[in-house]
Amino acid sequence: MSTIFELSKPGRRGVSLPRLDLPERPLEELIPKRLLRREPPGLPEVSQPDLVRHYTRLSKLNYGVDDGLYPLGSCTMKYNPKVNEDLARLPQFKFAHPLQGEELSQGILRLMFELGELLKGIAGLPGITLQPAAGAHGELVGMLLIKKYFEERGERRTKILLPDSAHGTNPASAHTAGFQVIETPSDERGMVDLAGLKRNMTEEVAGIMLTVPNTLGIFEEAILEVAEVIHKAGGLCYFDGANLNSIVGRARPGDMGMDIVHFNLHKTFSTPHGGGGPGSGPVAVTEELEPYLPVPVVARKGERYYLDYDRPKSIGGIHSFYGHFAVMVRAYAYILMLGDEGLRAVSGSAVLAANYLKERLKRTYKLPYDRLCKHEFVLSGKGLGNDVRTLDIAKRLIDYGFHPPTIYFPLIVEEALMIEPTETVSKEELDRFIAALEEIAKEAKEHPQLLKEAPHNAPVRRLDEVRAARQPILRAELRPVRR
Ligand SMILES: *Cc1c(COP(=O)(O)O)cnc(C)c1O
Repeated sequence: MSTIFELSKPGRRGVSLPRLDLPERPLEELIPKRLLRREPPGLPEVSQPDLVRHYTRLSKLNYGVDDGLYPLGSCTMKYNPKVNEDLARLPQFKFAHPLQGEELSQGILRLMFELGELLKGIAGLPGITLQPAAGAHGELVGMLLIKKYFEERGERRTKILLPDSAHGTNPASAHTAGFQVIETPSDERGMVDLAGLKRNMTEEVAGIMLTVPNTLGIFEEAILEVAEVIHKAGGLCYFDGANLNSIVGRARPGDMGMDIVHFNLHKTFSTPHGGGGPGSGPVAVTEELEPYLPVPVVARKGERYYLDYDRPKSIGGIHSFYGHFAVMVRAYAYILMLGDEGLRAVSGSAVLAANYLKERLKRTYKLPYDRLCKHEFVLSGKGLGNDVRTLDIAKRLIDYGFHPPTIYFPLIVEEALMIEPTETVSKEELDRFIAALEEIAKEAKEHPQLLKEAPHNAPVRRLDEVRAARQPILRAELRPVRR
């Protein structure tokens, strides 16, 4: 496909404006000469239909949550209500500026304050910051809070425990905050091995990071015992709540003895994501950790909302201004719109959809941890025959019109296929997905070449993924547009 620059023809226009009915004046009279361009900006010159068709064609090369099932494990690629997009684009929000001051931002501050209160309720914890820009950023904040907490107490604790079923960002966050990461093993049921945990929990350990449900989609049944082991030895518990659609409205991390929880507003609470767009990773904490939260904190005095910078024990600022506000608007609207009952329905549907898929697919694919799952589960692509691998299955799914699941993660399952259908998918679509995977398993036996060479119907065939990551070509070599 051509780029918009290659479609350019000198003199083509996408708009027709009426002739100027005022005397024309030289540009220099209107704009100071030093501010005038010396060269034309080199924009493409195309007609309106060419422009619209170009971008419409481009959009069809892509696959998104508005096209169909996007079962990327751990990512919660669900459909998000469009009304929340409209709300985030209200002119009063869209044209607000962080420097306009508190007096002119009372509605915005109130929204942030109330969102914070709602999230505290969902977490079951009394302190919150909405500043972190993403889940992993929330994790980093959590780790810095733990660090500060022990510094204040004069304790030297340099290690963080991480189960081998943790999300990949967890060890990265702990490491970035300066902790040494100690892996603690899972048992044969896919949960934290308590005996192993007790062995690893020493006086040098600051705490544990738990992905709940873990990356196998399994709820940590012994979470109260885990919290007890950690707390008894003086440590703190971090709950990675990025996949809160698994328990929201039913169980609260604070009630499970967790000290810190991060949310992924862009997964659970209605902001479309993927492609690295703005996210939001609020962090809720216990009363003990509240003084260390990043500055500013959104606060209220009587009827007035303000940004509280007067927090001497704070770990400091972690974002310019106050994080990604438009994501907060969507989350606020989504939570209010659903209410308690709606939030319960979210986790109910997410868990039901995942278990339905799991039970049907385990007839055809290996399910190494065969248990009731939460929002997701992990199959293995091993054993289909003819040397077919998980990568081949994933690529062939594209031909069937589905986005592939997360693959080769978590590492504790060989040839992993990590599937999260989310709560916004119909039974009919789940059945279509099951049928596609069953068909693919049959093809693996009868026509393995079909899988090895897949995808066949996609805009691009199989990519060299290592090269794509190592030598990305991010710029087209184009001749400049001449006027
Ligand atoms: C997505 C995810 C994260 C990271 O969130 P980002 O917003 O991508 O930084 C962390 N933990 C879990 C369990 C996740 O699913």
